[in-house]
Amino acid sequence: MNQERKGLNTICTHVGEVEDKQFKGATSPLFMSSSYAFQDVDVKRYPRYFNTPNQEALCKKVAALEHVEAGLIFGSGMAAISTSLMAFLKAGDHIVLQNALYGGTFNLVREEFEKFGIEYSFTEGLRPEDFEAKIKDNTKVLYIETPSNPLLRITDLKAITALSKKYSLISMIDNTFASPVNQNPADFGIDIVIHSATKYMGGHSDICAGAVASTEEYIERIFQLAKNFGGSLSDQTVWLLERSMKTMGLRVKAQNKNAQRLAEYLDKHNDISAVYYPGLASHPDHALAKSQMLGFGGMLSFELNEAIDASLFQKSLRLIKPSMSLAGVESTVISPTQTSHALMSADERDRQGIRDGLIRFSVGIEEPEDLIADIEQAIQKIKVQATITTH
Ligand SMILES: *Cc1c(COP(=O)(O)O)cnc(C)c1O
Repeated sequence: MNQERKGLNTICTHVGEVEDKQFKGATSPLFMSSSYAFQDVDVKRYPRYFNTPNQEALCKKVAALEHVEAGLIFGSGMAAISTSLMAFLKAGDHIVLQNALYGGTFNLVREEFEKFGIEYSFTEGLRPEDFEAKIKDNTKVLYIETPSNPLLRITDLKAITALSKKYSLISMIDNTFASPVNQNPADFGIDIVIHSATKYMGGHSDICAGAVASTEEYIERIFQLAKNFGGSLSDQTVWLLERSMKTMGLRVKAQNKNAQRLAEYLDKHNDISAVYYPGLASHPDHALAKSQMLGFGGMLSFELNEAIDASLFQKSLRLIKPSMSLAGVESTVISPTQTSHALMSADERDRQGIRDGLIRFSVGIEEPEDLIADIEQAIQKIKVQATITTH
């Protein structure tokens, strides 16, 4: 389709950039205007029309990264998700979503869809037959997220495309955890690719944004709704996001490497009972991940042995920060039981395999030896304290 496609880091650095015709500066100039000349131009530019110079520049970069024709940038990942979903669903329609989903998406569906008359079903698992079992006559969209949060399970992209074709459905993926560096779902036939750009695209824990990538036809359809819903991103942040994305390839590849190293270390650790990382040969979906991902990503989860308390573990870390968000250059951890999955019943958590000792680890770009040393000192500190209190 695109004979002139550039390599990853070239796209990250250059594609879409706005030429500084006046001063020949090295970076895209920032155009903050919310008002543009009306009479003598053919394009009516306005921030909420998603067509300012900086917005258009970044959309081109996102499209190039996902190997598709067009993109749109939003004010948050949830704005991108909700607008894309509503563009393809109306009252009386039905959607099938995978059961392991980002909490915000889960809330959007459960708290809002009923009032719009949209029916939904969550799958029992991530296998193609789990999706097919939920498809009904009025189903319009299949929605997936792979790797999943927090256990990093993998959904088969080719199988989802095949189901979408068989039943004439639109397939949508939340590609946030993989980032465009590690997974390009459109290459496998997925229709709509969505990102929380707050995560790997931004990468420095200082931006909230979203992105959608697809064909020109589908992006036009999403845009028609987006301009009415008004979830556009301010140009200042658009500019900052473009700057951040120049190093996305470098950052994410460093995070992949660190995560693999950390996963192997944790896997051999006596105080860790399980490690979930698609890059480990022992991961149940390792072969599938290998067949559809370019890298295994910077996210992993592990289970502490019962003797090591998860709260105490997080408090004992010195370098790695307990944090709600993920995908920044700095390493962070979180306990799903205490945060994202806290509202779920203990039974439901158990059914999904989310135990109290589970720690989700967003691996940063620090030296892996320093991350290992931090985990080691935290575990040793807790063990020493336990010995003192029992004697
Ligand atoms: C953070 C996140 C979102 C939501 O993005 P916001 O930018 O916070 O709106 C959606 N999906 C996944 C997988 C995420 O991690």
